[in-house]
Amino acid sequence: MAEPGRPSGGSGMGNDRRAAAEAIQAPGTEESLWAAWAGWDQWDEVAVPEGPVVVLAAHPDDEVLGFGGTSGGLTSAGRQVHVVTVTDGEGSHPGSRLMPPPVLAQARRAELAEALDVLGVDRQLRHRLGVADMRVAEEEAHVCSQVEKVLRNSGATLCVAPWSGDLHSDHEAAGRAARAAASAVGIELWQYPVWMWHWAVPDDPRVPWRSFHRLPLAPEELARKKSALRCFRTQIAPLDDHAAVILPPEELAHHQRPFETVLVETESG
Ligand SMILES: [Zn+2]
Repeated sequence: MAEPGRPSGGSGMGNDRRAAAEAIQAPGTEESLWAAWAGWDQWDEVAVPEGPVVVLAAHPDDEVLGFGGTSGGLTSAGRQVHVVTVTDGEGSHPGSRLMPPPVLAQARRAELAEALDVLGVDRQLRHRLGVADMRVAEEEAHVCSQVEKVLRNSGATLCVAPWSGDLHSDHEAAGRAARAAASAVGIELWQYPVWMWHWAVPDDPRVPWRSFHRLPLAPEELARKKSALRCFRTQIAPLDDHAAVILPPEELAHHQRPFETVLVETESG
C-alpha cells in the first residue's frame, strides 16, 4: 500500500498528483458505509481461468490486500501463483530513524516472504523488481518489460495488478505496465483496487463500477488472508518513532470482506 508521499513545493508534483495524494491522506470512507451499500450485490462473480496466474504488487502487501484470499485458494488447489513485487516499499515511514529506508526495505521483504508462505506461494515463483518506492511511473517501461518476461516464461493465462485508477502513483503505474504487458502477451488483465476503498464513496462517479466483479472467498480462504495480513507488522502497527499507522484497523476492514474485487476491462468499457 505505502504512503503516497508528502506533497512538497519542490517535488515537481503536478496538481493532479497533489490532489490524489491529498485524497489518500484525507480521512477515509468507513467500512460501515460500504457494508450498507447495495451496489455490489449487482456485480457478477468471475472465475479464474485455468493456468498459471501472475499477481503484481507495487509494494509488499498490495498483493495480499487485493488478491490474497483468491491467491491462497488457488495455491490450495495446486495452481501456480507467481507474485511480482515492484518496490520494497521503503518509503512508507519517511523520517523514521528506527526504520530508515534500507532497514525498512529489508523488514518489508521479510514480512512479504512470511505472508506468501502463509498463502502457499512457491518460493521459486516470487519475483522482486527492486524499483525505488514512489518511482514506479519513472520506471514504467522497465516494469512492463519485466512483467512481460514473467508472463511469457510462466505461461500465465491471467495477470492481476493494482488498478490504474487507484490514485496512488505507484499503483497506477504498476496497473498501466501490467495492462501493456498482458496485452503484448495476449492474456486477460484483472485489476484490484486498494486505496479506492479509502477515497471513494458508494456510487462514486469517479469509479467505473460496471467493470467490477466479485470473487467470493471461502471461510478458510478469508482466514488465511487475515493471517497473511498480520505478517505486515511495519504497516499494521506504529513504530516507536512513527505514530501514524499505514494500515489501521478501519483501513484493513476494507480488505477483510468475504469477497475480493477486480475490474475487468472490456472493449465496450
Ligand atoms: Zn501499495
